[in-house]
Amino acid sequence: MSTLEFITGCMFCGKTEELIRRLRREKIAGKEVVIFKPAIDDRYEFLSVSSHNRSQLPATPINETKDMYKCLSSRVQVVGIDEVQFLDDAVIDFCLEQVAVGRNVIASGLNLDFRGEPFRFMNSQKHVGYLMAYAINTTLRAICVYEKASKNESGSPERCGAEADFTQRLIDGQPAPYDSPLIVVGSKDSYEARCRAHFAVPRKV
Ligand SMILES: [Zn+2]
Repeated sequence: MSTLEFITGCMFCGKTEELIRRLRREKIAGKEVVIFKPAIDDRYEFLSVSSHNRSQLPATPINETKDMYKCLSSRVQVVGIDEVQFLDDAVIDFCLEQVAVGRNVIASGLNLDFRGEPFRFMNSQKHVGYLMAYAINTTLRAICVYEKASKNESGSPERCGAEADFTQRLIDGQPAPYDSPLIVVGSKDSYEARCRAHFAVPRKV
């Protein structure tokens, strides 16, 4: 029985770490695994998927969904996709087709964009919810790193520390406005995980 698994949540919640963990298990089980990632996500290593903790597995960078068909030999049993939200919406049918022919698909990706709205696929009104409708979903949570006014014993600002489900995009330390570019693959200095209370909903300017 083949399955489609989707690992989701905000940035810094450990999605890629969990994807790597699950794909490693498949390899240990002797399965033929292929891993894809959108070429836009070039944070660390171009030819592998990497988590923020630097664990990694070799991956094939792709520009669009149809590139994945070219890399599927008949021996492949498990398909992994990292940062699936950066692809086009054809990835929904791709995943369902793979399951239909007997492959397991394990994908990871953001559920919400920095506006707190469902993440839309490239050039599409369809968002990741359309994929989640067919998947066994796991939602991970990060820790809110919002700096409070109070200081801790060592004199540095205290962090909120609550469970976080939102990704705050910051420009010069301030929440990015609603119409700032959606896809900027970032690091800690431009994105923060935030709880609901500390997520500043981006305003239209
Ligand atoms: Zn908070």
